[in-house]
Amino acid sequence: MQYRTLGKTGLRVSEIGLGAEWLERHTLEEIKEVIKRCEESGINILDCWMAEPNVRSNIGTAIKGHRDNWIIQGHLGSTWQDGQYLRTRDMAKVKEAFQDLLIRLDTSYIDLGMIHFVDETAEFHQIVLGEFMEYVRELRDQGVIHHIGLSTHNPDVAKLAALQGEIEMILFSINPAFDMLPATEDMTQYFSESYADELGGIAPERAELYQICERENVGINVMKGYAGGRLFSAEASPFGVALTPVQCLHYALTRPAVASVLVGYDTTDHVDQAVAYETASEEEKDYATVLAGAPSHAYSGQCTYCGHCLPCPSGIDIAMVHKLYDLAEMQKELPDTIKAHYFGLSANAEDCIACGGCEERCPFGVPVIKHMEEAKLLFH
Ligand code: SF4
Ligand code: SF4
Repeated sequence: MQYRTLGKTGLRVSEIGLGAEWLERHTLEEIKEVIKRCEESGINILDCWMAEPNVRSNIGTAIKGHRDNWIIQGHLGSTWQDGQYLRTRDMAKVKEAFQDLLIRLDTSYIDLGMIHFVDETAEFHQIVLGEFMEYVRELRDQGVIHHIGLSTHNPDVAKLAALQGEIEMILFSINPAFDMLPATEDMTQYFSESYADELGGIAPERAELYQICERENVGINVMKGYAGGRLFSAEASPFGVALTPVQCLHYALTRPAVASVLVGYDTTDHVDQAVAYETASEEEKDYATVLAGAPSHAYSGQCTYCGHCLPCPSGIDIAMVHKLYDLAEMQKELPDTIKAHYFGLSANAEDCIACGGCEERCPFGVPVIKHMEEAKLLFH
């Protein structure tokens, strides 16, 4: 298992994680099996957003005695009322539900205290300026939560969070389909039937979000990496082709600032399928060729950082140069950190000999040589 640093939290998280949502429909014994398989595979991060009491208790039992092996992402604002989940900002309920989480998980701390599910910018402002954030700070100052995070599906909210200063990481929905959609405050639109008509390349606000997170060192953990499974079937996918779990994971893990993809597992087989990413060949990970050959796609000319264009005879990490170029281009002035990163590369755009091999291999028709020329001008 590969581990990545989750932005400024400094935590080293497994790049494949456990999104525990599906465990809600399983018995204690089944949950124990899945968690054991995760641990054996090197998975060390789990997200528990669920408020349902039994699943919380069962997870607590399953990790008893080895809780410290886990980085737990626990949510503030996810409550259980009258037998059902309710997202709330009612502070009495928020506090009660968070205490319940600690008790049921049988722990005195949560590694990543997540401000739960904020998809509206107005609500984001209310939260960070109000009593909700005061409570979050209090928990952090007492060491009950070690780091502050926020979960959202809306790139506009995620950008605000990344720039807020105290929020150290974001739980964000990333997959090739969602990445093409503009920001919305209504997440149900991501699953609307009509959105195939709207495909138009990576939505600029999403590309910008990834660059902001990388610049601000705000780590991203990923949810909905499989778009709820719809990317696995040519009929359901907006691209008209099926991707594999490994290809979806590779897409998410090649976005800037991403540390871990939190995957839902019903069975130990599901764990194995996701962990297969760790030993998959480059061909198996290759989402790029599949998407580029899809009946409906609109990534043309846009670097998706897939790395398909390698090897470069000059040793240039072409995807990385593109990432840094895209990041630098957004700024009025070139930040020293990006410059340092660029000049820290063992080879950069300066070393391009314009052989054109990468352009032949790039499935998206990216004009790499031209971009290398532009990067040279920008960085020198
Ligand atoms: S230039 Fe093309 S092949 Fe290379 S990383 Fe970008 S999209 Fe992928
Ligand atoms: S054109 Fe430049 S970046 Fe592309 S493979 Fe050749 S040397 Fe490398």
